[in-house]
Amino acid sequence: MAHRFVFDCPSCGAEMHVDADIRAEILAEGCVLCRTSVTSDAFTTASGVETR
Ligand SMILES: [Zn+2]
Repeated sequence: MAHRFVFDCPSCGAEMHVDADIRAEILAEGCVLCRTSVTSDAFTTASGVETR
């Protein structure tokens, strides 16, 4: 599967396209760059109309 989510870190401003696995990892571990813990609000779907 392609990268379906866009992660937009509210703390450091990092923006990256991620897949569901990485999304889950970021939710569990925090931002990959600044380690700030984030919620699902930091993600938007990259395409389509999927809701969480
Ligand atoms: Zn960050």
